[in-house]
Amino acid sequence: ASEQKYVDKQAYFRQLAAGVQNRNTDMLKWLLEELENRKFEMYLQPKGRVETLEVVGAEALVRYINPEGEVVQPGKFIPMLEQEGIIKYIDLFIFEEVCGLLDRWQRQKRKPLPISLNFSRLTLMDQELLVQIQKISNGYSFPKRYITIEVTESVGEMELFDMVQPIKEMGFGVSLDDFGTSYSSIIMLVQMDYNAIKLDRSLVLTLIYNRKSRIVAQHIIETCRELGSISIAEGVENFEQLNILKKLGCDWIQGYLLSEPVPVEEFEKYERKE
Ligand code: C2E
Ligand code: MG
Ligand code: MG
Ligand code: MG
Repeated sequence: ASEQKYVDKQAYFRQLAAGVQNRNTDMLKWLLEELENRKFEMYLQPKGRVETLEVVGAEALVRYINPEGEVVQPGKFIPMLEQEGIIKYIDLFIFEEVCGLLDRWQRQKRKPLPISLNFSRLTLMDQELLVQIQKISNGYSFPKRYITIEVTESVGEMELFDMVQPIKEMGFGVSLDDFGTSYSSIIMLVQMDYNAIKLDRSLVLTLIYNRKSRIVAQHIIETCRELGSISIAEGVENFEQLNILKKLGCDWIQGYLLSEPVPVEEFEKYERKE
């Protein structure tokens, strides 16, 4: 069955590639080859409960293994792939990796752990791709709510609704990433229901020494609660930050305090240690 899925994926990539016009087709060729050669890899970073640090989920983050065998961070290649309009191949790849992992965990009778992944705005706008992710996930029996799509970019409010609603209707979770940076705005909170809202690292960084930061964070966290969304603080690196977040009533944290993003194998070892 997984062989069949792989063949379908290749056919899908070729079909999409054929439709790409006025693009850097060399880069697309490179991307598809590297995906096929498994030079891109999914890493996982745990999310933990503020109160107990119990691992309650993970975020899937892409990595590239360059010809020297070094791990390249997404900041080095995602902007380029977005500019070329070909980021959806990465998002689809990670989506399939997440499905495969959730399926394996289910077969191994492991405790299910919800996983989130990042979708670019370009990916959300791609109707074909949305059909594709529905097809892929329909091939598995784990509940779709174990997958959450993280969205960031501020777009016209109706546009955002139109892009995110189909994903919710398919049964996936949706969370608002990097809340509090230039790519997010209050109107995004008003227009949609999110399963989770992620407080950006820039706000978390200032919590220790900036009283205003604590006031703003507290109000965002309270707003999350009243809106029925889980609050997740990003980039939590030390216990000082954790203790403040605890006082402010934040639900979950993600950050180096718990773990950096790591390969799946390492994540599974770490989780078993709990
Ligand atoms: P993001 O979605 O906000 O992911 C969180 C980023 O913060 C990750 O960077 C993670 O490694 C980093 N981080 C987590 N905890 C800490 C901490 O305690 N301290 C510090 N300094 N950093 C921390 P990463 O993996 O380099 O990813 C950067 C961005 O690239 C992501 O930001 C996301 O927007 C994008 N990205 C990653 N994977 C994908 C993907 O598969 N598709 C798309 N479209 N975008 C992706
Ligand atoms: Mg994210
Ligand atoms: Mg992001
Ligand atoms: Mg983020």
